[in-house]
Amino acid sequence: MTEFSLADVDRHLTAHRADGLRDLGEFLSIPSVSAASAHRPDVRRAAEFLAERLRLVGLEDVAVLQTPGHPVVYGQWLHAPGRPTALVYGHYDVQPADPVELWTTPPFLPVERGGRLFARGAADDKGQVWMHLLTVEALLRTAGRLPLNLKFLIEGEEEVGSTHLKAFVTEERERLAADVVVISDSSLYAPNLPAIVYGLRGLCALELTVRGPARDLHSGEYGGAVQNPLHALAELLAGLHDRQGRIAVEGFYDDVCPLSAAERAAAARLPFDEEAYRRDLGVPETFGETGYTALERSTARPTVEVNGMWGGFLGEGSKTVIPSVAHAKLTCRLVPKQDPGRILDLVAHHLERHRPPGVRLEVALRGGSPATLAPLDSEWVRAAARALRAAFGADPVYTRMGGSIGVVPAFTQHLKAPVVLMGFGLADDHIHSPDESFDLGNYDRGQRALAAYWLDLGVARGT
Ligand SMILES: [Zn+2]
Repeated sequence: MTEFSLADVDRHLTAHRADGLRDLGEFLSIPSVSAASAHRPDVRRAAEFLAERLRLVGLEDVAVLQTPGHPVVYGQWLHAPGRPTALVYGHYDVQPADPVELWTTPPFLPVERGGRLFARGAADDKGQVWMHLLTVEALLRTAGRLPLNLKFLIEGEEEVGSTHLKAFVTEERERLAADVVVISDSSLYAPNLPAIVYGLRGLCALELTVRGPARDLHSGEYGGAVQNPLHALAELLAGLHDRQGRIAVEGFYDDVCPLSAAERAAAARLPFDEEAYRRDLGVPETFGETGYTALERSTARPTVEVNGMWGGFLGEGSKTVIPSVAHAKLTCRLVPKQDPGRILDLVAHHLERHRPPGVRLEVALRGGSPATLAPLDSEWVRAAARALRAAFGADPVYTRMGGSIGVVPAFTQHLKAPVVLMGFGLADDHIHSPDESFDLGNYDRGQRALAAYWLDLGVARGT
């Protein structure tokens, strides 16, 4: 049997690079926008395209599995008895491309410019899923086998909250059983500085409706006699924080585990330029909870944000009206130990307690998922660090991500497997924005890192 050789893998990847990029271009040209029902057939087409590709690289038992929403693509290769099993998770759906007019070239017409591949989904996450496929292909073509057992679970609803995948993971926990879950849907910390993400914030959402009079009223006839629902809404929302940016909801911080001194010291060592960050965001100053840096506040501290508020007259000119109803949508980002259900209850209770006179409140709770934190001292993380160092020439930094990957808590809970997040994007990839792109240098190095990781996990430890 042929020995595994990273040099052979490297040669194979180089020799077939143009083919891989061409096929990725085809994948990227399918507008698999999961949020838009008009794109439902495209999402399906992307799933079928991906499944066909999984078969071509040599994965087995490939299937496009139905869920009540968009399908899940699955494939596996399980011929390494006695070796670990890794589950690769990613997503083939993409964010909407709007506003399309702000793109330099059309979002679903992939083009290479200045060492980057431009297209919606190039970095998030089709390009990174593709790297995994090419790595598997290179290993199978050069050695005839993989150094460990691999399972692929690529979903089509990540950008809309992984609505059905959580139940899927629960039901399919035997099929998905693995020693480690590997996700490439994040970024390097900076060019040539790889990162392992060990913490993700959780998320929960609610909608608030403030109801006043039974109909919109003439503000001359009734103004002064009744509460204005928009005033009441503004008062309620303003009361969620104090002037120092701290959340004023009673009990909100009860379960938050404080940042350790070691973690704060590690965060302070990261090359984070708060002034450049401020300038890039175009704000006169950063703002948030006193006592923490912007980096800490945006990754390791919880938040309550108003995402939208509306009501009353929004047309041209003025209209003298007291609206009968006002609305707001809110989300909270959560940190480890905070329970999404309890947080929603606390926020709802706070809003009720501070209800201004003269209005009724309706609070609809939209559920959520908890934060996750992975232990850094596991063999899976240490091997990932070695692989990243080999491919990028630098030790990775360990970071927390402010965002959430909805299904990760289901992996830790139902598969009882640690999750390793090693991603190859960059902060300036413009994911979710116009002109999304993927740095092709990172695309190349990332494939070497993944090959090194699988070899390390499967071979270096031997049996
Ligand atoms: Zn993503």
